[in-house]
Amino acid sequence: MNSGDLSTGFTYDSAVPRVIFGAGSRRLLSAEIERLGTERLLIIATEGRASVAAEVTTQLGDRVAASFHGARQHVPVDVVQEARGVAESADCDGYLAIGGGSAIGLAKALTLESGLPIVAMPTTYSGSEMTPVWGLTSADGKRTGRDARVLARTVIYDPALTSSLPPKLAAASALNAIAHCVEALYAPDANPLTSLLAEEGVRALASALPSFGARPDEAGHQSDAMFGAFLGGMSLAAVSMGLHHRLCHMLGGTFGLPHAASHAVMLPHVIAWEERGGGEWLRRLASALDSGDPSTAIYRLRAAASVVGSLRELGLASQDLVRAVEHAGAMTGRTGVALGADAAVLLEDAYTGRAPRRWTDQEIR
Ligand code: NAD
Repeated sequence: MNSGDLSTGFTYDSAVPRVIFGAGSRRLLSAEIERLGTERLLIIATEGRASVAAEVTTQLGDRVAASFHGARQHVPVDVVQEARGVAESADCDGYLAIGGGSAIGLAKALTLESGLPIVAMPTTYSGSEMTPVWGLTSADGKRTGRDARVLARTVIYDPALTSSLPPKLAAASALNAIAHCVEALYAPDANPLTSLLAEEGVRALASALPSFGARPDEAGHQSDAMFGAFLGGMSLAAVSMGLHHRLCHMLGGTFGLPHAASHAVMLPHVIAWEERGGGEWLRRLASALDSGDPSTAIYRLRAAASVVGSLRELGLASQDLVRAVEHAGAMTGRTGVALGADAAVLLEDAYTGRAPRRWTDQEIR
């Protein structure tokens, strides 16, 4: 039996959208929209995915009432306001989000107020389509929350839609999905089911990662990565988020760093800090990565994929590093201990892009 110690029992409480998975499954979109009964869709995309959104608009014909191609990272409130205006003047009765977490996040922000159903067709590995987590960014920073109403009703996973991702962006997005799995593995409310999903998610994503640069035209790794992203989103949806996400939300929401790449930079350093004391989560992670040193394994996977390796390269200014350390000091890890003075060391490591350090018990401050 590979599902950990069952003697203490567990609670699993999570809703899951209807999921259609497979290369070419976007052709089933019309039938899925019909099944849901929506007749006046708002198509939501980023500018970058406008051409796919336009193809889908043609495919769906009369069922599309309006389009909004202005979704942006971290869901700025002014973009939500603009999209709401478009949806209301077209009297929309549902949202079809085509794209990564930015398009899906905008649909969630709209649903939070309107309650209208979401169909999501992901084109990255963000996993947002599987979670009831919403985010909104204003001048005061990024707020996030959980609400069952924002969970997509139907998700169409067509791995072919990710084939246009530039290899470095694909790899960064896959590392973002690995981060979801890692957080699900060490969450205080992890349970045997979420751990199974998360471990398998890491395995699928780590097996796909080396192929993005080397064999970008092959389809197999896109399916593996999308399956891993699905498992990562599903496992994260059922547990609470930890230190890694708190740090990345701060870096994205307060300093405007790109989402997937921030996750890719931070993950090895956060794992290195969290891995003292070990535990079942670390054994699962080591098994999925086929390595006794998970933080270094992820660091190397990222370096091999040529994904940006430091907060400095991502554009964080040195004076903002000081502010980031101030924000991070009070954040707590998986055991409830605050980062405290370790925040400066951990963020400095991420800022310079050095290999993850071996924290020893003496270094626990
Ligand atoms: P994104 O949606 O912002 O996409 C990044 C860029 O890639 C955009 O310019 C987009 O146009 C382009 N792009 C997307 N798919 C493409 C494709 N197939 N080919 C070529 N270009 C493509 O990035 P993301 O990392 O998917 O999402 C980030 C956002 O999602 C953040 O705001 C983050 O907070 C949020 N998020 C939320 C959750 C959640 O559960 N709520 C989970 C993960 C991410």
